Amino acid sequence: MLRVYTCIAHQHNFLFVVIAGMICLLATLTALSAFQQAVREASRRATFIIVAALVSGLGIWSTHFIAMLAYEPGLSISYDVSRTLLSVLAAVVICGIGWTVALGKRPFMAPLGGAIIGGGVGTMHYLGMSAVKLAGYIIWDHNLVAASLILGIGLSAMAAWLQRRESTLPVWAAGSVLALGICSLHFVAMAAAVIYPLRTSGVAVQSLDSQSLAIGVTVAALSIMGVGAGLVMFDRRLAAAQLAEARQRAALADQIVHSTAERNTLIEKLRYQAEISTAALDNMAQGLSMYDSQNRLITHNRRYAELYGINEELLTPGTPVIEIWERVVADGTILQSRSIDIPVIGDEDWLKEHEVTLSDGRIIKFQRQPLPAGGWVATHEDVTEARRTNQQIAYLAAHDALTGLPNRATFSTYLEAYAKDGRAFAVHTIDLDRFKEVNDTLGHAVGDEILRSTAVRLLELTGENDVVTRLGGDEFAVLQWDVDGLVTPAAFADRIVKRLAEPFEFKGHTVIIGASVGISLAPESGICCEELLMMSDLALYCAKDESRGTYRFFERGMDSRLCERRQLEEDLRVAITEGQFEVYYQPLLDVSKGTITSFEALVRWHHPTRGLVQPADFIATAEDTGLIIPIGEWVLRQACRDAINWPNDVGVAVNVSPAQFKRGDLIAMTMSALTAAGLAPERLELEITEAVLLHDEAWVQAALKRIAALGVRIAMDDFGTGYSSLSYLRAFPFNKIKIDRSFIADIVGKSDALSIVQATIQLSQKLGMEITAEGVETAEQMNVLVEEGCTTVQGYHVSRPIPVSRVAELLRFYNTGVHTSARAAG
Ligand code: C2E
Ligand code: MG
Ligand code: MG
Repeated sequence: MLRVYTCIAHQHNFLFVVIAGMICLLATLTALSAFQQAVREASRRATFIIVAALVSGLGIWSTHFIAMLAYEPGLSISYDVSRTLLSVLAAVVICGIGWTVALGKRPFMAPLGGAIIGGGVGTMHYLGMSAVKLAGYIIWDHNLVAASLILGIGLSAMAAWLQRRESTLPVWAAGSVLALGICSLHFVAMAAAVIYPLRTSGVAVQSLDSQSLAIGVTVAALSIMGVGAGLVMFDRRLAAAQLAEARQRAALADQIVHSTAERNTLIEKLRYQAEISTAALDNMAQGLSMYDSQNRLITHNRRYAELYGINEELLTPGTPVIEIWERVVADGTILQSRSIDIPVIGDEDWLKEHEVTLSDGRIIKFQRQPLPAGGWVATHEDVTEARRTNQQIAYLAAHDALTGLPNRATFSTYLEAYAKDGRAFAVHTIDLDRFKEVNDTLGHAVGDEILRSTAVRLLELTGENDVVTRLGGDEFAVLQWDVDGLVTPAAFADRIVKRLAEPFEFKGHTVIIGASVGISLAPESGICCEELLMMSDLALYCAKDESRGTYRFFERGMDSRLCERRQLEEDLRVAITEGQFEVYYQPLLDVSKGTITSFEALVRWHHPTRGLVQPADFIATAEDTGLIIPIGEWVLRQACRDAINWPNDVGVAVNVSPAQFKRGDLIAMTMSALTAAGLAPERLELEITEAVLLHDEAWVQAALKRIAALGVRIAMDDFGTGYSSLSYLRAFPFNKIKIDRSFIADIVGKSDALSIVQATIQLSQKLGMEITAEGVETAEQMNVLVEEGCTTVQGYHVSRPIPVSRVAELLRFYNTGVHTSARAAG
């Protein structure tokens, strides 16, 4: 080391040493830069390796010779030209080999390449030293020679290794190591050379002096600097270009990433929207079809296909509408040849709402809207249910739900329309006579059946232009249009009465109802339609009041009769609350014994202004209005209370209305009346008419049997006036039959009446029933009846109905023998 130091400090010019070092560093940095480019750019690798070889070779050479310029051994030095040139060539070639090897990918290649470069440095140095010519000779210290080579080769290998392995290491680090290697080799090698001067030695002809060498070195150094600067510039530009390219690439990549993300988001969004649109379209209750200006399908929804039964395969976008509809018609879904979807140019109606009825009866409503870009969109809706419902609502609004006849409002409309015509027509108002009783006793189901059957019968009787309506309850009306023909209003009303008097058959049961009719005639000056209806209604009331089962024309003054009837109703209500009724009693005489067996309770009404009113004047109204129930109950209780004061063998008969059967809870009421009065049930007899027995329903029989089971007797009143008396007698074991007084009145002189009486008496005997003849007014009638075997009589001949106060007197007369002794006395 000391020798090396001494060599540098004492035998070298320091300035040149520094310049040599700087040239060396510049060369190594440039060479390494070129090498780095060769590593990076495969396409121009050879160029950069050549540059690296040239720069490093020349650099080593320059360093060496500048250092030689700095060397002052105390003798003049010159250089052999050929060897000097050989040394530079060797440096360049060996460095070229070294750099090439260092490019290798295997790990040892870099240090190997570096070692070769180090070898090149050594070769160049010692070749260069062999070119030295001086007046002396050189003795080499072999140890230092070896050390110089080891240092040069080792540091060069290390520099190459650093450069390749540590890619992040700056170039100057490896460059410094390589420069250090070169310089170390040089200066240790210089220390290894010991020069011994010779006096005879001179400078050879083909030799370079120091000045020429300086020029050569300067040229080499300048070329290295040029190459270095060029490389630096190139590297910078390359770096800038690469940076720009990298940035561009990054921006592009960024853009690609960004635009890809954006596109994906957009696609997602569109897909989502498409899904939503499809879902929305497919879940629409309406069908939707959209066609372009060329009448080709753009889109449609599921409902559209369903509504018309179109196969989805046919509904691909672009399919012409004509093709779709030809298929629909061919399939028989729709019974029209022209497509409902095809626009007709110039057709104003095209945009309006349309309806089409499919062959299966469904009604489809559709409406089209033009699209701004041409073509059109149509919506299709199944309105079958809605139409049916509307029709039903309209029908229900205009018709009676039970009978299906036009209702009162519709009838009024007809009336008005007919009245405007100015022609003559008749309005018949019809009321069913015993409907209330039937409805009460047989129930509403049978009542409804009767109303329906009545409607059918009326329709059968009417002509094409006549109108039948149910005004409400059991009231009907007929507008008879043709009154000038064969069937006059009177004949027509008569037909109605007769037809409705015929029995109704329900599930084997026979029900007789009967009807009354009121008639008004149009045109009547100054009378509106409603009044026409009111007039026939008044006529109807009169018909019912006078005798049921008949008809009446409207006459002036009828309205006052109606008022009277209304007044009667009102007065009856007052009578019930104020207790204006009294029970009269009419005796029933046992003709064989000549004694009174019982009294029939007959109600009387003490009207505050009209005086004593007979049942014939108010019972029917009381039955119609339901007031018979409280009246009947009062009579029953009063009769029981009165009868308790009579002898035990004298009974009491009470009339019972059909309405009392259902609404009045007759059984409970009877028991209550008997208990309240303390009367034995056997002394009470209930008189029922055939109206109660309009049917043979089990429950009526059951009710009668329960009453009978109490011990109460049951009599059939007014026998012979109804319809099916005989079947009634068979169905229920009555205690008594009362022959209606209409037969008794004619019993003398009219053989047919007598025949009926005879037959009834025989029948009662056969059935084991008692028989009473009603309305016996004369001794003659009584004698006939006695002869025919009648056991009991009732009538004015025995006694008129009398107040209870006179019952005792009558009983005394008949039952205590006064009557018999009086008769015996003459
Ligand atoms: P009815 O049950 O057949 O009663 C007999 C009717 O014939 C009584 O009429 C009686 O006065 C009348 N009469 C009796 N003998 C003769 C006679 O020789 N010649 C004539 N021409 N008539 C005679 P009244 O009292 O006017 O009663 C009429 C009807 O009113 C009764 O007929 C009965 O059906 C009903 N009625 C009377 N009171 C009541 C009652 O409290 N409740 C119910 N539901 N109906 C009653
Ligand atoms: Mg009676
Ligand atoms: Mg009677």
